[in-house]
Amino acid sequence: MSMGPGGMGRGMRGFMTEEEKQQAPKVTKELLVRVFSWLKPYWKQFALTLFCILISSVLSILPSVLTGEIIDKGLYGRNLPLLIRLILLSLLVTFLSNLIGVAESYLNSWIAQHITFDMRNQLFRHLQTMSQRFFTTNNQGDIVTRMTSDVDGVKRVVTDTFSSILSNTITLIVAMTAMFQRNWILAVLGIIIVPLFAIPTRRAGKTRWSLTREAQACNDEINGILNETLSVSGQTLVKLFGKEETEYKRYEEANRRMIALNIRESMAGRWFRVIISTVSSIGPMLLYLVGGILMMKYNSDLTVGDITVLVTLLSRMYGPVNQLLNIQVDWIRSMALFTRIFEYLDMEPEIKNCQNPIIPAAATGSVKFDHVGFYYEYPHQILKDISFELNAGHSIAIVGPSGSGKSTMINLIPRLYDATEGTVYFDSVDVRKLDLAWLRSNIGIVTQDTYLFNGTIRDNLLYAKPEATEEELIEACRKANIYDFIEAQPDGMNTIVGNRGLKLSGGEKQRISIARVLLKDPALMIFDEATSALDSISEQKIQDAIDPLIESRTSILIAHRLSTILAADEILVLKNGEIVERGQHADLVRQGGVYTELYETQFGAGNVSGPEDEAGRVAGWNASYTEGEGNA
Ligand code: ADP
Repeated sequence: MSMGPGGMGRGMRGFMTEEEKQQAPKVTKELLVRVFSWLKPYWKQFALTLFCILISSVLSILPSVLTGEIIDKGLYGRNLPLLIRLILLSLLVTFLSNLIGVAESYLNSWIAQHITFDMRNQLFRHLQTMSQRFFTTNNQGDIVTRMTSDVDGVKRVVTDTFSSILSNTITLIVAMTAMFQRNWILAVLGIIIVPLFAIPTRRAGKTRWSLTREAQACNDEINGILNETLSVSGQTLVKLFGKEETEYKRYEEANRRMIALNIRESMAGRWFRVIISTVSSIGPMLLYLVGGILMMKYNSDLTVGDITVLVTLLSRMYGPVNQLLNIQVDWIRSMALFTRIFEYLDMEPEIKNCQNPIIPAAATGSVKFDHVGFYYEYPHQILKDISFELNAGHSIAIVGPSGSGKSTMINLIPRLYDATEGTVYFDSVDVRKLDLAWLRSNIGIVTQDTYLFNGTIRDNLLYAKPEATEEELIEACRKANIYDFIEAQPDGMNTIVGNRGLKLSGGEKQRISIARVLLKDPALMIFDEATSALDSISEQKIQDAIDPLIESRTSILIAHRLSTILAADEILVLKNGEIVERGQHADLVRQGGVYTELYETQFGAGNVSGPEDEAGRVAGWNASYTEGEGNA
C-alpha cells in the first residue's frame, strides 16, 4: 500500500513509517525560504498571530501561579476580600487567555486557508499547462491526492505545527521560570519527572499507531472495492459476469478484518490510559513528598501554596512536552508535503509557447507533415517518416489497423505532443512557432471516446462557444443531426447527459460532440470515427452529421467506414507507423496492397467495387473491419 504523507490522520502524529524515514526530505535553507515565502503575503496577520500566542501562553500559566496566593494569602491569611479579588483575577485571566486563544485560532485558520487557497490555484493553473504525456503517465489518483490531501496537510502544518511549536515552547519557558522562582529543588525534580511521563505515552502510542495504520490499509481496501464495484461500469461488469456473490464475499471479508482491528485498537487505547493515569499521578505525589520533607525536616520557607503551584505547573507542562517530542516528526512530515507539492510546481510544461509566437490573421486549416517521426518513449518508434500535404478546403482519410499510429498522428497537429523528428506545419507555419492558443482554437477534433461533462446538453454545447445564441445552438444541432433527438426529450436542451454522458448512446454522444465542434467553427476539422459498430440507421445519422463538418472545410478523417473513406479527397494507408499506400479508393483497390487486403476481408474477393458504386453505404465495413484488426 502506498500512502502519501498527506494520507496521515491527526491521530497518527508522532511516529514515522520506515518508508517515510527513508523519504524524509533534506531540509535545506532553500526549502525553508520557499516554504515561508508562502507566508509572505500574510506577514501582518502572521505577526499578529505570534503576538496572540505569546500573550495567551503567558496568561494561561498565570492562574496556576495565582493558586499559591489564593492558598497562602487568601485561605491561610484568612483575608476574605483578598481571596475574592484573587479568585476574580484568576477567572478574568483565564477568560482573557481563552479570548485571545479565539483570536489566535481565527487568525491561524485564516492564514492557513489563504495559503492553501493560493497553493491550490497555483497548482491547478500549473497542472493545466502540463502536456498530455503528464496525464497519461501519471496516475490520476496521485494527481488528485496532491491537489487535495497534500494541500490539506499543508493547511494542518500551518495551523498545528507552527503554532504548536511556538505556544508549547513559550508555555514551557514560562512554567519553568515560575517553578524555579518558588523552589529550585522541586523545579529540578519536576524537570526530571516530566520526560518520565512522556516516554510511556510514546510507547503506548506507537502500538496504537501501528494498529491504526493497519486499519487504514484495510479501509483503503474497502474503499477500493466500493469504488470498483459500485461504479457504473463496475456494476455492469459484475452483473454480466454474475459476480455479485464473489464481490459480496470480498467486501464482507475486508469488513470483518476491519472490525477486529478496530476492537484491538480501542483496547490498546484502554491499556494506554491505565498506564498514563498511574504514571501521571506519581509525579505530583513525588512533589508533595519531597516538598513535605523540605518543609518539615529542613525548615525550608516553602508554603503549602508554593507546593500546590508547583504541582499544578507540573501537570501543565506535561502536554507541551509531549507535543514537542512529536514535533520533529510533524516537522519532517510537513517538509515532505511541501516537497511533494513543490515537485509538481517545478515541473516544466513539456509543450509551451515559443518566444514571440506567431498569430496569423486568419486560418485556412492546411496541414503539412514533413518527414515526421515520433516516439512516446525512446526508442520505441511509433511514427516513421510521415510526409503528406493537406491543402485548404480538402480532406484526407487515414485508414489502417488499430495501433498503427493514426491517433498519434493527429495529436501532433494541435501539439498534444511534439514531433520528435521532422516538422508539422499548420497554415504553412511550423506548429511550434505558432501561438498555442491560436493553433488549438483553429482545430476542432471529434474523438472516438467523446467526453461530455455531467451537465445539460446546453452546457456541453456552450463549452465551445459560451456566447452562442439559442439559434446558433439549434442550427449546430440540426447540422449535426441531433436536433430531432434533443427536441424529443422532455427537457430538450436542458436534458442532463449524466456522468460522462453515460445516459446517451454512443451515436448520440458523438453527434452532440459534432454539434459542439460546429459551434467552435474551426478551420481544420479532425474526425476520429468511432470503431464501435453502429447499426445502419445510426451510421447514416453520423454520416449526415459529418457531411456539413467537412464540406468546404479542411478536414482529416480517421475512417473506419467505407462511406467516410469515400467522402475524402485522398486516402492515406497507415501500417506500423508508416504510410504504405496513398491515393483514391479505386486506385488503391487496383493496387492490390494493404488497402485491398483490409477491404477484401470485409466484402470478400471479387466484390471489389469503386467509389461510383452504391458500395459507399455498405454496412459492415466497420464491424468486420474492426474484428479483422487483430490479424492485421
Ligand atoms: P491508432 O490510432 O492507429 O489505433 P495509436 O496512435 O492510438 O494508434 O497508437 C499507436 C501506438 O502508440 C500503439 O502501439 C500504442 O500502444 C502506442 N501509444 C498510444 N498512446 C500512447 C501513450 N500515451 N504512451 C505510449 N504509447 C502510446
